[in-house]
Amino acid sequence: MALRPVRSNSRSPDDYNKLFLADPDAPSGEVMRDFTPRRFDRDRECLTIDFALHEVGPVAQWAQAAAVGDRLAIGGPRGSVIVPDDFDYYQLVGDETALPAIGRRIEGLWAGVPVTSVVLVDCPAEIQVFETEAYLNPTWVLRSNAMADEAALVREALERWQAPQGEGYVWIAAEAQVARSLKSYMLEQRYHPKAWLKASGYWVRGVAGASEKMEG
Ligand SMILES: Cc1cc2nc3c(=O)[nH]c(=O)nc-3n(C[C@H](O)[C@H](O)[C@H](O)COP(=O)(O)OP(=O)(O)OC[C@H]3O[C@@H](n4cnc5c(N)ncnc54)[C@H](O)[C@@H]3O)c2cc1C
Repeated sequence: MALRPVRSNSRSPDDYNKLFLADPDAPSGEVMRDFTPRRFDRDRECLTIDFALHEVGPVAQWAQAAAVGDRLAIGGPRGSVIVPDDFDYYQLVGDETALPAIGRRIEGLWAGVPVTSVVLVDCPAEIQVFETEAYLNPTWVLRSNAMADEAALVREALERWQAPQGEGYVWIAAEAQVARSLKSYMLEQRYHPKAWLKASGYWVRGVAGASEKMEG
């Protein structure tokens, strides 16, 4: 069996770093936000983080204005949830905030294992190509307009998906309400086993600095 290349020094694709920034509302305070270490090059000591830019928020603003030489305090990752890599197939679902973790998972899978990705993005320019030996079937769901029901858009793509034979692992991360709705769809309408599904709200619409772990 071929060895997989080590592209990152953290053990699980959905590990996260804590980013620490000055609190714009309290100059002596600090805010913390979670971001996926997309890649770490030990030799160059170079950490890559992909920021999904949105309108407001300390990190969004920092990232848009970032220039060479700027400093950022970063901690972690502190611990890793290791998912067995011998599932018969993988299904990875999310929005652009989940893309770094989805990319890492796809790149790290064994040759030939079926993996489907269903990712919600704003426009075709945000589509990414991943290098992998897995058998990747990517679906990109474009937001048709700002008012569209994002969960419904992704669900439509999932409805067309036929689960391969065997035991699969489903991973979902997106805005909390969207992730919750997709989790319910996979459990209640596709009867995917709860034990083999992980869903997270990577951000919460209208609430700064919030995320949601979705147990069980
Ligand atoms: C484990 C984990 C890993 C993550 N990895 C990544 C990653 O690699 N890349 C990445 O881009 N994000 C990632 N996120 C999501 C990121 O932490 C949040 O989007 C975070 O809230 C952004 O911080 P901010 O300071 O820019 O905005 P905040 O101050 O948190 O929010 C300000 C406002 O913007 C809204 N908002 C927040 N995020 C978004 C968004 N993506 N789109 C639209 N509106 C938004 C909020 O609802 C709020 O109204 C991850 C989250 C978790 C939990």
